Amino acid sequence: MEILRTKDELGHLEVLREKQPLVLVPTMGALHAGHLSLVRLAQQYGTVVVSIFVNPTQFGPTEDLAAYPRNLEHDLDLLAPLAVDAVFVPDVKAMYHRQDEVTIVPGCRARGLCGASRPGHFGGVLTIVAKLFGLIRPDWAVFGRKDAQQCLVIAQMVEELHLRVKLVDAPTVREPDGLAMSSRNRYLVGPDRTRALCLQNALQSAFQQVADGERNVDAVEKLMLESLSEADSVDYVAVREVPDLDKPARMSGRTLLAVAAQVGPARLIDNLVLDVGEDEVVPTGLLTPGPQ
Ligand code: AMP
Repeated sequence: MEILRTKDELGHLEVLREKQPLVLVPTMGALHAGHLSLVRLAQQYGTVVVSIFVNPTQFGPTEDLAAYPRNLEHDLDLLAPLAVDAVFVPDVKAMYHRQDEVTIVPGCRARGLCGASRPGHFGGVLTIVAKLFGLIRPDWAVFGRKDAQQCLVIAQMVEELHLRVKLVDAPTVREPDGLAMSSRNRYLVGPDRTRALCLQNALQSAFQQVADGERNVDAVEKLMLESLSEADSVDYVAVREVPDLDKPARMSGRTLLAVAAQVGPARLIDNLVLDVGEDEVVPTGLLTPGPQ
């Protein structure tokens, strides 16, 4: 496993690139089983490069940048058994050179949901992802469906800037009780950990309601909101069309159910992607083609 820290060291990728497609898995470290599943999926597409970089520009002024968990040694220990080909671990200076650099402005898909409650977040995400794409020039990049809006915002950039990379959205990995794995789950202890299950419960109740025939968007959002009564506050409950994330008049086709709520010290998000037919409703992925 090669550890690469600078643009020059990325030259090592050229040999790997000749043999197989290059697949990038961008992360901010604090790795858990969710990240490792992305790596395993990526290995089906070619030679895997994992990047580990806590990207300052995607954190708002009141967010947890300084406190964000960092433990490179532990992350590398988790990656080593997977036989990852290379890990890119730049420092901030390697990725951001000066004030007033070029940045990416996200499109319409970043307007609502997390984009509304985290101003500037998706601009920071797209800017770092564009830099990583430029530096590594992957054939494929794998992102977690857990961050559904992020996947779709990145897909819009790739499509509209005509980038050559192909994207894969990987299924969400959950704890045995259903809580979506997240680096921020470590902030959840005692009753907060139990209350955190309300996000998954809200999505499952909504799924059941849609499976039973409900197609009214407001009714489904209302049920999700009621199911989040255990949270300290609800950021949003949303039923949105995929891929542009508009609010549909009535549920049909590929649809995102998304929730975000504060539970104790952690802001948690979760979602479910459904293919809503007239008579049938099945969980699906965000991007086509992709694993379900
Ligand atoms: P992060 O380090 O939190 O920026 O996440 C890096 C990548 O891992 C992103 O593409 C996330 O969507 C993905 N990811 C995070 N949590 C999970 C999870 N529980 N299951 C699958 N992918 C995940």
